[in-house]
Amino acid sequence: MPLFILFYLSINSIAEPIKLTKDEKNFIASHPIIKVGMMPDFAPFSYYIKNTPVGFEHDILKIISKRTGLEFEKKIDNWSIIYNAFKNKKIDMISSISYKDYRVPFTTFSSSYYDIPIMIFVRDDFGEYKGIKSLAGKKVGVLRDVFYIKELENIGTMNLVYYDNYTELIEALVFGKIDALIQNLTNINYLIKKNLYSNLKLASELILPNTKKEDLRFGIQPNEPLLGSIVQKALDTITKKEKEDLVNKWIGSIKEYKGGHIELNKEEKAYLNTNVIKYCINPDGMPLEGLNEKGEHSGMSSDYYNLFEKMLSAKFELVKTKNWNESITFIKEHKCDMLALGMETRERRKYLNFTSSYLEVPLVVATRVDVPFINQILDLEGEKIGIIKGDAFVKILRQKYPSLNLVEVEDIKEGLDKVKNGELFAYIDTLASIGYEFQQKYFGELKIAGKISENLKLSIAVVKEDKILLDVLQKAVNKITNEMHREIFSKWVPIKYQKGIDYDLVWKISIGAILFIILVVYWNRKIIKTNRLLQEAKKDIEVKNKELEKLAITDKLTNLYNRRKLDELLQHELNRSERFNHTFGIAILDIDYFKKVNDTFGHQAGDKVLIELSNILKTHIRTTDFVGRFGGEEFVIICPESQKDGVYNLMESIRLDIENYTFKDIGKITTSFGVTLSKENDTSESLLKRADIALYEAKSLGRNRVVIN
Ligand code: GH3
Ligand code: MG
Ligand code: MG
Repeated sequence: MPLFILFYLSINSIAEPIKLTKDEKNFIASHPIIKVGMMPDFAPFSYYIKNTPVGFEHDILKIISKRTGLEFEKKIDNWSIIYNAFKNKKIDMISSISYKDYRVPFTTFSSSYYDIPIMIFVRDDFGEYKGIKSLAGKKVGVLRDVFYIKELENIGTMNLVYYDNYTELIEALVFGKIDALIQNLTNINYLIKKNLYSNLKLASELILPNTKKEDLRFGIQPNEPLLGSIVQKALDTITKKEKEDLVNKWIGSIKEYKGGHIELNKEEKAYLNTNVIKYCINPDGMPLEGLNEKGEHSGMSSDYYNLFEKMLSAKFELVKTKNWNESITFIKEHKCDMLALGMETRERRKYLNFTSSYLEVPLVVATRVDVPFINQILDLEGEKIGIIKGDAFVKILRQKYPSLNLVEVEDIKEGLDKVKNGELFAYIDTLASIGYEFQQKYFGELKIAGKISENLKLSIAVVKEDKILLDVLQKAVNKITNEMHREIFSKWVPIKYQKGIDYDLVWKISIGAILFIILVVYWNRKIIKTNRLLQEAKKDIEVKNKELEKLAITDKLTNLYNRRKLDELLQHELNRSERFNHTFGIAILDIDYFKKVNDTFGHQAGDKVLIELSNILKTHIRTTDFVGRFGGEEFVIICPESQKDGVYNLMESIRLDIENYTFKDIGKITTSFGVTLSKENDTSESLLKRADIALYEAKSLGRNRVVIN
């Protein structure tokens, strides 16, 4: 037996022996190393795993090497770079090149070792793809220099966006910079799987009149015909089986990708293969779930279960019950393994595990048409309110609103009938269920009188013992796309208005509004959450930016503007005065004999004076004026749109105030002011210079004065 296996294996791995000519053998002997250009990110053909280049093409080269004795030196770089190196004869060979007539003058092509279809990928939210016309006006990402680029450009209806590498291309689509991308199936699938991008889908294969599948070949320098023939002969020796093995190793699983593929481990697969999963539903819960006339599972959950069956290749079997209560009893007794739709509660968690919720519905209150609308659930205090027996909500409502008088009913029909004949004041159930019943009857008799703030969140409930089933179902729930939700939702909760019946307008409006809320709540739940996080992050950044901005323009000691900001403000005023022909004034204020203050009382006391002085300045400043510390003990005041007298008077009053003020530690100081008004063709330098000259004059005239220049 072992011998037989050995024999069998060796037969399968024996390749046709390669027949080389003398010239070819000589070529190999004299050209020990062949430089071949390969891509770094062309998965699964040539890419990196942890710094090691790997892939389908690397394995092919290994085979060629083994059969011929050729040695390859790999030059791995972006396509444009290796392509140009090949064109310029810097390398002997290039891999993953497609046949094109225009490449013939500089390329000898080997036969194709793999043909990849070119696909169009879009995001889940793209909507229906109806052929290439769906891409008109859309941003479509492509790689620069791909062989079909000319043909795409010639179509002329898409806004092509060019990228240098696959990662940038796919991220652009994932994060919404582009609407679609065109690229071969294998690369993009590989990246989708590797990065678990969940919001992309295949729209279609790209079919263009002159573009076939992407054929992968080796390109060989035409001036090395022997190399070309050797490579081709080596490729010819690769058996079908070897090729299949390589395809399985590197590309195989791609066929499974249909947008909803689920990775299951061995144990999970075995479980699904050997078990029929028994489930219970609420037989009266249409349109969420129920039984049709034939007694079959119907409603939204039935569609979800059809999906799960397909996604998981699992078999589900409905265990019929009379009502919801019996379903609860059944699962407790393990007559079924799971509840198709159940609300997670603390009590139920004792014997059930729950997937994350996959359906969320608002609860509403139905009353007779002749009672007022209710704004909140406590409006129902003191009234008899019907609710389905065994409903998880009974407990929650009882705990939250102990003053409510909840009366349990067997099913929705009983509840609504009792409201109709006055036995109950109101009945609480999901909007979907009540809306559904209203389509059958109760028109003009009952209405939806309000919404309860709590939503009903529904998950799959699995018996506690069955961990594998829970894991498998959670994986399925994770894979439900928004589109699947939308499709199921619009099938079962249609907004239908039959002709000839005069509906209560208010009812129409309220159900319309609530349906809108449902749509927003369900399908945008994630978006809202993400947006909120983004918003918070944005606010955070804005606050931080404001802080930074403030730091950048404030003088630390005095909290006035700093020199930088003053320069900016001056420039701004100059621009304004030029444009609007206004004049404005500036003043430089310098403390008299400040050195003495420092010398007598110390630097710290000097600092305090600067702070106190700043406070005096602030009290004088109009909201339109600006004041900043120019440096040391010099300050600048800018008075936009001012005349000579105005500026002079302002500075004079500041000067007087300072003169009259008694500083805490040091007593009295005085200040000198150099003032000037803007003139035509002023620059900030010319302006400051004039003010400085005025200041100098004020000092030399004896200080403690304002001089205008
Ligand atoms: P003048 O009337 O001619 O202006 O005499 P002055 O002593 O004030 O002379 P000047 O303006 O040339 O000197 C400024 C002095 O201000 C120098 C330095 O001791 C002091 N000074 C500059 N910056 C600070 C500061 O941040 N804190 C303190 N405490 N002193 C400073
Ligand atoms: Mg000074
Ligand atoms: Mg001074």
